[in-house]
Amino acid sequence: MRLVKKVFGSFKYSLLLLTFFLLIVACSKAPVTGRSQLILISESQEIQLGLTAYDQVLSSEKLSSNQEYVSAVKRVGNKIAPFTEKNYNWRFNVIESSQVNAWCLPGGKIAFYEGILDIMENEGQIAAVMGHEIAHATARHGGERISLGILTQVGAIALQIALREEDPAIQYAVFQAYIPAVSIGAILPFSRKQEYEADRMGMVYMARAGYDPQEAINLWKIMLEVNKGKERPPQWLSTHPITENRIKELEEFLPEALEIYNDSDKEPNRKIR
Ligand SMILES: [Zn+2]
Repeated sequence: MRLVKKVFGSFKYSLLLLTFFLLIVACSKAPVTGRSQLILISESQEIQLGLTAYDQVLSSEKLSSNQEYVSAVKRVGNKIAPFTEKNYNWRFNVIESSQVNAWCLPGGKIAFYEGILDIMENEGQIAAVMGHEIAHATARHGGERISLGILTQVGAIALQIALREEDPAIQYAVFQAYIPAVSIGAILPFSRKQEYEADRMGMVYMARAGYDPQEAINLWKIMLEVNKGKERPPQWLSTHPITENRIKELEEFLPEALEIYNDSDKEPNRKIR
C-alpha cells in the first residue's frame, strides 16, 4: 500500500510537470458543443496526415461504380459542408464493400461503404451519417486522439521516472497494468464521448442544411434491427456507445435540432433506390 501511494505520488508529480509544458500551447474548443479540447498538433499537420492517409486508403480500395450511391453521397456532403465552421477541402467517396460503415479522416476526407447505403432508405439518412462524420473532422477528433496517444506515452515516461529506484519485478508489474488501465479508464471512454459529440453535432449540421434530424434516429433503429442477435462487446470495452444508448441521446438532442431544421431551407428527402 505504501508503495502504491509512493508510486502514485511521484507519478502524478512527474506527469503534472510534463503535461504543464504541453498544456500551454494547446487549448481549443469544439464547434457547436463548445467543449474544451487538448490538441497537441497543429490543424495543418492534422489535415496533411488526413490527406496522405486518405489517398493511401483509396488507392488500395475499389471505388463504387453505383452511380446512384456516389451522386447521392456527393450531393449530401456538398450540401452540408458549407453549414459547418470549417472551410476544408472536403472529399466524399463511396467504396465497393458490403461493410456497414463510414469513416472520416482529419481535414474532411470522408468515405462511405456501399453496405451502409444498402440499409438506408433516403437521403435524410445519408445526411445523418454525413453530419456525424463531418463533425468528427470539424471537432478535430483525430487530432485529439493523436494527442491522447502522446499523453499516454508521456505518462509511461513519467511512470518510468517514478519507478526508477524500484525492484524490476515491481516495475514490470506496474507497466503490465498501465496500458489496459489507460485504455479502459481513459482512451475508450474518451472515444465514446467523441461519438456522442459527433452525433449531436451531426444532427445540428444536417438540420442546418435542411435535412430532417428525425432521420438520424430512424437510421439507428434500422441499425439495431440489422445487428440483432450479433455478439458485441460491453460498452466499457468498446470505442462506440451501444446503439440503444445512442438512440436515447439522439432523442434528447432532437428538440434542439428540430428548431434549427424548422428555420432551414428544406431539402427534398429523396429515396435512394
Ligand atoms: Zn463516429
